[in-house]
Amino acid sequence: MNNHLYADVLVEVPGLQTDRTYQYRVPQKLAGSVQFGNRVKVSFGKQRVTGFVVGLSEQKTVARVKEIIGLVDESLLFREDQLALAKWLADYYLCSTVKALQSVIAPALKKTSARPVVRLYSNVEPGQLPEVQKQMARSPKRLAALEAALRHPGLNKRELAALAGVSLYVVNQLCTGGILRVEADLPVRDPYPQYKITDQARVRLTGEQSLAVQDIAAAVHQGGHRVFMLHGVTGSGKTEVYLRCIEQVLRAGRQAVTLVPEISLTPQMVRLYKARFGRDVAVLHSRMSDGERCDEWSRIENGSAPVVLGVRSAILAPVSDPGLIIIDEEHEPSYKQDEAPRYHARAVALFRARKSRGVLVLGSATPSLESYCRALPGGAYNLINMPNRINGKGMPSVQLVDMRREVQSGNSGIFSLTLLQKLREKLHNNEQTIIFLNRRGFKTLVVCRECGLVLKCPRCDISLTYHTDGRLRCHYCNYRVQAPKRCPDCGGSQVGYFGTGTQRVEMELAAALPGARILRMDADTTARKGSHEQILGLFGNGGADILVGTQMVAKGLDLPGVTLVGVVNADSTLHMPDFRAGERTFQLLAQVAGRTGRGDKPGEVLIQTHTPEHYAVRAASRHNYQAFFQSEIAVRKEMGYPPFAKMVRLLVYGKDDTAVQEAAEKIYTRLNGFVQEQDGGKIMIVGPAPAPLPRLKEDYRWHIILWSADYRQLRLAVKRFWLATGGAAPGKALKMSIDVDPMYIT
Ligand code: ADP
Ligand code: ZN
Repeated sequence: MNNHLYADVLVEVPGLQTDRTYQYRVPQKLAGSVQFGNRVKVSFGKQRVTGFVVGLSEQKTVARVKEIIGLVDESLLFREDQLALAKWLADYYLCSTVKALQSVIAPALKKTSARPVVRLYSNVEPGQLPEVQKQMARSPKRLAALEAALRHPGLNKRELAALAGVSLYVVNQLCTGGILRVEADLPVRDPYPQYKITDQARVRLTGEQSLAVQDIAAAVHQGGHRVFMLHGVTGSGKTEVYLRCIEQVLRAGRQAVTLVPEISLTPQMVRLYKARFGRDVAVLHSRMSDGERCDEWSRIENGSAPVVLGVRSAILAPVSDPGLIIIDEEHEPSYKQDEAPRYHARAVALFRARKSRGVLVLGSATPSLESYCRALPGGAYNLINMPNRINGKGMPSVQLVDMRREVQSGNSGIFSLTLLQKLREKLHNNEQTIIFLNRRGFKTLVVCRECGLVLKCPRCDISLTYHTDGRLRCHYCNYRVQAPKRCPDCGGSQVGYFGTGTQRVEMELAAALPGARILRMDADTTARKGSHEQILGLFGNGGADILVGTQMVAKGLDLPGVTLVGVVNADSTLHMPDFRAGERTFQLLAQVAGRTGRGDKPGEVLIQTHTPEHYAVRAASRHNYQAFFQSEIAVRKEMGYPPFAKMVRLLVYGKDDTAVQEAAEKIYTRLNGFVQEQDGGKIMIVGPAPAPLPRLKEDYRWHIILWSADYRQLRLAVKRFWLATGGAAPGKALKMSIDVDPMYIT
């Protein structure tokens, strides 16, 4: 054989500054075994590394090629379309292709005993052996392997080769020649064995729901690419619309992906999907074991689960022909990944839907400004409105409580008199209440009354929070320390605790309302697997009167017994140093308010605030998305912020303050060069400046922000910078990250 085969390999070398493939020769012993999608072992410089085979050819493109050392494992890890997705991610979000590919196929890379096992059986009956022995007289190795397979059916390739004392090549030859039969056995576990398909009576769609389903289903059956913005108030029945549209797409023989934020992937949601589609649903979320995730992933890949329900990363699932992608609560910031590739699931969904000529549905009660803009008349998206709640239920009445007046009238507590009175009323009537606060812990600030020192995390420069276990904690890095009796700086004994967290709210509620049964749901009480479900289950069954919680209680819950929602402090998100602060506040208030009045009794909402006149707070209190949108879009336009511009943020970080600053300045100069060449003037570039969180987990942090209405120019400038630096920070022990379309600027 003169024709050698060559493989293009994406090598897995951390910190490699180039983004390209390397060619290796496929050695004789692996001929026929190395395929597109394999992971192989190769030598790279002086090291041995692994890599992915992304192409094969008979043409040598470089003078000297090395040989592939071996296969890491026999299974094929990705298909062409998955590689294409990785390439797009790498290009758009400026990271290396191999990094993007690792993300796209992450569940397949996790080695667990649950990976499908390939077993070998002989096609030759024992009685036929003497005959075959004669035919194979001149291939003793193949014969040895066949005899071993007959004696020990069900081994995998490697085991059989070892037992027979032959190479994998010989075993593979027997497989290709049809002498051995390969059977993949899939020990698939069901992570949700308790949920079965139920043929519960189907609800009759409301008029609004039917219109929505009609529009979307028509697009699904046309088979072209379309995007719908489903703007439906909380409780308008969006989930039922999703389920009906999925039925349509399955009928068309295609697959459907539904994304929900981590926080709303509740057992309720899973149960709904399972009841409708049973084992056709694969569920993907971050709290599954690697084995469970890997099983679900395989079921998607081999086509046995055409319905995918999952969190952000499920947008990368190996569905081959997504006819419908649904993003519920599309405005949720958690759809943006905060490590490379820093993708936004919505952007990936758009790419995938466009490629597969599929339909994308963006659902929300409070659409992101970016999406809603495109759904206005003349925009690229179709807008579907569902302005009413199911069964003619009204939106809850919202009352704003001006906390400045409370203080003036002598009440300096956490709760206004109005809120306390309402709480008592609900207790008396046996109705349930949710109290929302976005800070956990007990007191959020520890200050020395003598010297004014604020106790901060030694690694993050963030103030520490006092917890009831007597310890101070950093909510960024989880640093913990015993609360000091004396100020560590001046030795003073007057250490004071201020600010309010969920623990304190829980405690003060218990004091103010003796006999009330109170539950708390935050990161501290839900650390254990299953505890989230437990708390919700208990509350949902009427096992408590009041649920105190953080963001976790704000979203997606459908609890009919809740008739009051209290927001302790609406201003806490309003004053964050972020151009999306207003949007976040509006969304959060609207979402929390949506948690009440879902049962037979009407709901009420009480929002405590120091700024009742702010447009975000006011619009939320009137359930008026349009009013909020008009005010907010005017601000964005005036400032030239997204959606009127695209933004890219560069962050440099490292342990040495001066080195970080110097590197940031170097980066700025270099970037600015590309910006000027590209199109000075139209691209805004600010910084370098210390990031809003100037120190995190021992790293000092500086950043540079670029934005422009002309995204092509901005991308070109940043891309040229990225290609020139390979994404590496100038300086040893420093790191740099590039965030395209950043969601949080921290
Ligand atoms: P959203 O996601 O828009 O906030 P949900 O999908 O949670 O709203 O629906 C709110 C409630 O209405 C749920 O309890 C759901 O079971 C119920 N529901 C949805 N559609 C109908 C219908 N057509 N008839 C009766 N009840 C419905
Ligand atoms: Zn910390």
